[in-house]
Formats: sequence, C-alpha cells, structure tokens
Amino acid sequence: MKRYINLSLRIPTTRLYTYSVPEHIKKNLIGKRVLVLLKQKKAVGWVIEEIDRPDNLEIKEIITVLDDEPIISPQSINLAKWTAEYYLCGLSEALNLFIPPSLSQKPITYIEKGSIEITKASPTQKLILELVKEKGRVSLSTLKSRVPSPYSCIKKLSAKGAIKVISQVKPLPEIPKEIKAKEVAKDIPPVLSPDQKEAIDKIRLCIEKGSFSTFLLYGVTGSGKTEVYLRAIEDVIKRGRSAIVLLPEISLTTQLIERFKMRFGAECAIIHSRLTTKERLTEWQRIRQGCPVVVGARSALFSPSKNLGLIVVDEEQSSSYKQENDPRYNARDTAVMRAKMEKAVVILGSATPSLESFHNSQIRRYERLDLPERVQKSRLPDVEIVDMRSEKTPGIFSQKLIKAIEETVGSGHQVILLMNRRGFSNYIQCYDCGSIPGCPNCDITLTFHSSDKRLRCHYCGFSSSAPSVCPKCNAERIKYSGFGTQQVEKEVLRIFPKMRVLRMDTDTTKKRLSHQEMLSLFAEKKVDCLVGTQMISKGLHFPNVILVGVISADIFLSLPDFRAAEKTFSLLTQVSGRSGRGEDYGRVVIQTYNPGHYAIQTAIHQDYSLFFQKEMEYRRELLYPPFSRLLSLILRGENEEKVEKEAERLSEVLLVNNKEDVHILGPAPYYISKIKKNYLYQVILKTPDYKRLHRLLLACDFKPASGVSLIKDIDPVGVV
Ligand code: ADP
Ligand code: ZN
Repeated sequence: MKRYINLSLRIPTTRLYTYSVPEHIKKNLIGKRVLVLLKQKKAVGWVIEEIDRPDNLEIKEIITVLDDEPIISPQSINLAKWTAEYYLCGLSEALNLFIPPSLSQKPITYIEKGSIEITKASPTQKLILELVKEKGRVSLSTLKSRVPSPYSCIKKLSAKGAIKVISQVKPLPEIPKEIKAKEVAKDIPPVLSPDQKEAIDKIRLCIEKGSFSTFLLYGVTGSGKTEVYLRAIEDVIKRGRSAIVLLPEISLTTQLIERFKMRFGAECAIIHSRLTTKERLTEWQRIRQGCPVVVGARSALFSPSKNLGLIVVDEEQSSSYKQENDPRYNARDTAVMRAKMEKAVVILGSATPSLESFHNSQIRRYERLDLPERVQKSRLPDVEIVDMRSEKTPGIFSQKLIKAIEETVGSGHQVILLMNRRGFSNYIQCYDCGSIPGCPNCDITLTFHSSDKRLRCHYCGFSSSAPSVCPKCNAERIKYSGFGTQQVEKEVLRIFPKMRVLRMDTDTTKKRLSHQEMLSLFAEKKVDCLVGTQMISKGLHFPNVILVGVISADIFLSLPDFRAAEKTFSLLTQVSGRSGRGEDYGRVVIQTYNPGHYAIQTAIHQDYSLFFQKEMEYRRELLYPPFSRLLSLILRGENEEKVEKEAERLSEVLLVNNKEDVHILGPAPYYISKIKKNYLYQVILKTPDYKRLHRLLLACDFKPASGVSLIKDIDPVGVV
C-alpha cells in the first residue's frame, strides 16, 4: 500500500504539504528530513506525520530521505504543534525552535561520474566531465565557480547518464571524547536547611511517581532556591532522566552558571545567545546524545533532551522568557506544557512571582513551596526611601544616598547603584522653542550619550552627532534633561574623585571588558562602586556589598504598561536582595518621586503578599491577567493612512464576529506610534477564556492588505 506523509516546508505558510513515499523506502520517516520538488525547485521538508489517504490524488513522490535517524522526536513535533496553535504562528516557525539553524540549511548538491561514457560533448560539457573525472566528486558551488552557467549542461549530461547529481546534508558533528571526559572541580553540597529539605522532599515524591506537576518555589532572595534546583536535578539524573534549567539571559554570564558547572561538570550543556552556530550545533548534539543537564536562556526549552524529568524556570516572572518576534512564545508557560506532555516536573522559582503564577498556586493549579528565610540567617537588608520631591538641591543623588555611599566605601565595603536607563541624558531640549530631537524612523526621542557626544535611538539604532544649536530654531541654549547610567557614573566621580567606579550596561559590555571580566573585577574588590542597569539586579552574589542605591524607582511606573507596578516591585526586591548577603547588615536606599505608591511601599518591607493583594484588586477591576487573557493585534506598515484603515477594518470584522462577549479595545496608535519607519496600530482583545480569542480570530479570517502586516501576540508581556 502506498504511504503518504505530511511535511513542513520552510516557507511562510501554516499548511502542511502531502507527498507520497516510494515503495522501496520502508523505514519510519517521522522527524527526518526529505528532499522534494516544490514548484519545480528542490526543497527540504520535515516529516511531521504519516496519513492514511490524501484528499488529492495527484501526489508527488519525495526524491530522497536525507537522514538515517530522526532529527526531531515525536514529542518535539507535538510540542511544536501546540506552540504553533497556541501562539498563532506557522508550524514551520514553531519547528525552527527545535532545530539548530545549521540543520535547516539546504542540502549540498554534488556531481559524480555516471555509469555511461559519452563521446560527443560540447565544450562546456567537456569541462564538466573533466572536472568530475579529476576530482571524483564536485560540489555544485565549486563547479559553478569554474564553469559559467552550467545548469543546462548538467541536465543534459545527467539525462544521458554521464553524471549523477546527488543531494546530501552535512552529517551531524561527532562529539569529541575530550569534552565528555573533562574533569571539573566539583563543589561540596551544603547541608539543607529544614525549609529546603521540606521543599525538595515534596518535589522528589513527584519525580519518583513520574507524573506531571508544577511547583512554585517562592523564596526570598538568598533563601537557597538554587540549591533546591541542584538537588532536584541530581535526583532526576539518578533516575536516568534529564533536566532543563531556564535562566533569564542576563543571569547566564554570571556566577549562577558556575554553580551548575561545579555540581554537574561535563554533564551540563550551556546554551546562550553568544554561542556561534557551530557551538550551538555541538551542544545540541551533545544533548541529543544524552547529556543530562541543559542550562540556558528561553530557547533552551526546546533542547532535544532525552527522557525529560524536570524543567526549572528561575525568576519565572522575568519578561525575558517571552520572545518578542514570531513565534511569540513564553518559555515559562510552554515549559509547563512540555512537562505535561512528557510527564515531567516543573519548578518555577522566584522571590517575586508573577501574579499569574501566584494566582495559579492559590487555586491549586501549582503547588507552592515556601522558603521564607535567607539560608545563612542573614537578615534581609533595611530599606529606606528618599522622597526626591523634598530634596533641597535637586540632583541625581540625595544627601542620604551620598552619605550612605561614603560610609560604605569608607568601611571597606562595596556599593551597587541601579539606574535603569543607559546613556547620559534622557533627551536634549531647546530652551527657546522647547523642541526635542526625535528619531526620524521612530516616534521616540533620542537619547544623549556623552562618551561620543551622539544622540541615539534605542529602538532602531539610529544615531547622529548632538547638535550645538537647536535644529528647529537655531537657538544656542540646549538643556540636557533626565539622565542615564553614564551621568550617574560621572556624578559619582565628581562627588568622590577617588572612588573606583565601574559602569555596566549594554553599551559597556559590548566594549572593552566582557560582562564576566567586569564582575570579576568587582568580586576581587578592585572596584568600589558598580553602576548599572537592571542587568546587575539579578543573580549576583557579592557578600561585600552592603549598600544598594536605586537612583530612580519611577522609570517603570511611567510606562503605559499594566504590569508597571509588578515590574517595579520585582526590580526593587531583586536589587535589594544584592545587599547584605555576607555577614554584615545590608542597606538599600531607594530614591523616588512616588514614595506613596504601593509598589514602592510594599517593596520597602519586601512584603510580597500585601503587594499581591493590592495588585490583584487593580487587575480585577480592570480585567487584566490573571483575571483575563489578552491578545494584542498590531498592524504595521510604512503608509500611515493605510495602516489606520486596515486597523479600522480589523476591528469592524472583529465586532461583527464577536459572539462570545470578548472585549475589543481600539484601534489606537501603538504607544510608540512609529518604529523603524513603520507605523503601528493596535487592537487589544480581552476575555477570561483564551479559547474565545482563538475562536474569534479564526472566525474573522482577516488578511491585511498588501504593505501592511499583522502581528498576533497572545499573552503579551510588553507594553499593552
Ligand atoms: P537564591 O537562589 O534563593 O537567591 P541561593 O541558592 O543563591 O539563593 O543561596 C544563597 C547562598 O546561600 C549561596 O551562596 C548558596 O551557596 C548558599 N546556600 C544555599 N543553601 C545553603 C545551605 N543549605 N547551607 C549553607 N549555604 C547554603
Ligand atoms: Zn529609531
């Protein structure tokens, strides 16, 4: 009986393509690559499923099978299907998450000698035959560089049997033995605290049963969550299963990675965004061959781990788990789905859980495990608020913070200063006409950077030299307003000329020293004061830091984002947790213009449950998650009028088809109405049941006019 298979082809459509399998191929093909003809062109397809009978009987046969063994497992295919459906993207896009980029390359075409000798040949044909004879086998690209326009000749020669044309994919890399055997100094696991023990016992029970369940490990900063992860992983490995640990990207360069390496040595694959394509493939192959622990950023969730037993998502509230381009998946939520499919255990860890996860623990969808105290009984730091409105001389630093820095450094300790904005001034403004230079490609003001005296757009990268006169009215008086990390660094040096200051943000880590080198300098106490953006707020453990200063707690609060308070509370709690991790008491000084805001008030006392309670009231009132699910629809295009018209049309279609009482908000210009020369309009859908969102979208079947694209973002985490 003829076999039929459905393929995913790397073209932007969601549908699968059906082909038939030649009689002589008997093996199971699911998860393998095959070569097919699509519109007269060779294309690589991934075999997704076998089907009984095609709808259409004019089915082409595949040309060849490119892999001996499946590259993607049936479990991965299932998860890709779910991802595509839930996050409203194409299956091939979802499959891409599982495949290292180098494996989706086209196969290489080779020319070999055929079985038939011919005597008559044109000059070009002769050239080809000579080359093949000389080398035995020539790749098409080499041949093309030697013989101009060879295609018709290749076709003729191969039809006559004088040459053979073969397509082959690069073989998967062999993993050298040295990596496997490399010895790494192992650490000695500490004796668990009673709370840690209780948590790990509960997790162990589930691992033993081999059933799916999700834990929310809720523990203050420094409460030993990482140790709980490490023990759970050990347990999983003992049972011959594997584990995936997800960390926010910025934690990946830090000490946290070292702890995993020290515990698991060479049994630990590490995946981050700075790996080269080749390194990525090597790690992927190692995992596929049974490396039991994977540590990485969100994309590591899609690793080919065998017999998965555990997924850890550290700092589960982090917005870095959401991918901001297609497929717009959230690795935390997808992790729970993967674990469910593979009967694994999930640990979501945080000192400040997302409202969604904490709510899930309250309704018993997740089981909560508490670590309410710091392990070494070190006290949580004292948090003090400075009301910047009542400072006598307004500037970057309050008198209180200056004094605290002086005392701290004077006693041989170190300081961390958080300024959640890079650059020098936030923007420049003309005193006379009030105009502020903006980006020509985006609807956003440009940020002044003092190191090279340029204005930069943090969205598209545009830059221009800072004008000395106003570009609008030619006045010479230009005001520098707001400030960023660069100015904080400069101001520290102005007040304390002898201080050893190091600035860490995406501008500096691209240059001179790497992230790691900077942190080493700080760890070796060669630096007194570390100034940085939120990249310094997480995961760092420096016992000598007894002061954390937050220059401005208000930056998130000013964004039009329903999670503004959550992000503020989380950031303040995280960064506060960097203080007093050693023997000495820590202090935190938070400067703000909104001292009464509940996010700041609750952060002072590190009172998550009060914050949760207040924030839930607000979310309930406005029907925001966890009381609803959101779908953000964004129309994007270069012609503003057209984008607006399409946005209007979209919301009309939605209204007409809205049978299930979904809230439809908009259309309205996106909060940044233009990015990279494209205008953006947004429609937001809100409803308690996400299935309604899917159903409504499906019923609408909306296709934007040409020149306009539609971005569908379910469970958005950015500004909505
Ligand atoms: P968290 O991840 O909750 O912020 P960590 O796991 O980083 O906390 O723990 C903070 C510090 O306490 C680390 O230096 C860690 O090595 C140490 N630690 C963790 N558990 C124990 C324990 N049971 N006994 C002694 N030290 C511990
Ligand atoms: Zn721009």
